[in-house]
Amino acid sequence: MKISFSQLRLIIAGFSVASMVCPASRAAQTSRDPQTSGPSTTVVIDAGHGGFDRGGIPGQRIPEKEMTLDVAQRLKGVLTAAGYRVVMTRDSDVFVPLATRVAIANSYRNAIFVCIHFNSAKRMGAGGIETYFYSRDSLPLASAVHYFVAGGAPSANRGVRRRGFYVLRKTGIPAVLVECGFLTNPTEGAYAESTSYRQKLATEIAAGIRGRSSVTSTSSRTGVATDDSIPLQSYIDQTKVSSSKRSHKRSSRTKSSKKKKSSKTLDSEASATARKQEAE
Ligand SMILES: [Zn+2]
Repeated sequence: MKISFSQLRLIIAGFSVASMVCPASRAAQTSRDPQTSGPSTTVVIDAGHGGFDRGGIPGQRIPEKEMTLDVAQRLKGVLTAAGYRVVMTRDSDVFVPLATRVAIANSYRNAIFVCIHFNSAKRMGAGGIETYFYSRDSLPLASAVHYFVAGGAPSANRGVRRRGFYVLRKTGIPAVLVECGFLTNPTEGAYAESTSYRQKLATEIAAGIRGRSSVTSTSSRTGVATDDSIPLQSYIDQTKVSSSKRSHKRSSRTKSSKKKKSSKTLDSEASATARKQEAE
C-alpha cells in the first residue's frame, strides 16, 4: 500500500460508520475460510505479566497473569496445528521484563508479535474488547485481530486504539496488544474463567493472524471487496492524547473538553497495568 499515513487516517475516518457493522455471523463465516497468509510467518506470542506481576488492579479476584498465559498457550496450539512457527516470550508463571519480551520479538525476521492481556477497572460495569497497535505496519494485524475477537465476543467493542505501549513502540515487527475483556466485570470475568471461552479467544486471535493480509482499506461500496476481505477497523489515536499532556496542555484541553467527555470515561478505565507498561 503506497498511501501516506495521513491519507490512511482519512480513509479510516470514512470507515468509522461502515466498520460499526461487524456482524458476528460474517466473522464466523470468514473464520471457516482457509488461511489467507502463509504459515511461514513466525508468531511471537506474549502472555502479559507473570511471576510476581499478577496483572490487573490491587484486590482483583481473577489473576490476569493466569488468564493471559492460558489464552497464549491455546493460541500456540491453534497456530502450531495450522503450521505456524510459534515462539512464546513466557510459557510458565515467570516474570519476563518488557525489554526481554521485545528483544525476543526483534530477534525474528518475518515475524509478528501478539501480546495478550485482559483489562481491569475500579468500576465493575466497565467492559469490552480493545486492540492496540503503534506502528502503521501493525494496523492491518490489529484490524484483523480486533475484527475477529470483538466480532466473536459477547462483550462491547471498544475499538482499535493507537498507543505507545513499550512492547508496541520498541518492536520492529508488526505488533498488537489485545485486551480480551475486563476481569473486573462480573460477566466478562465469568467468561474468562470458562475454558471454552478462552479457547474461543485463541481461535479468534488466530483467525485474525491468518486474515491480516486480507485487511482492505477499500470501501465495500466500490464493490471490490471479496468474501474473505476484512474491513479496516476505525481507531482512536491515543498517542496524541498522551503527548499533549506534556507539551500542549492548554490547547488540547480546550480542543477536547467538549468532545472527549464520553471517550474520557473509557480511557480512564483502560488497564492500569498496561499504563505501567507504557511508562517503562
Ligand atoms: Zn495486562
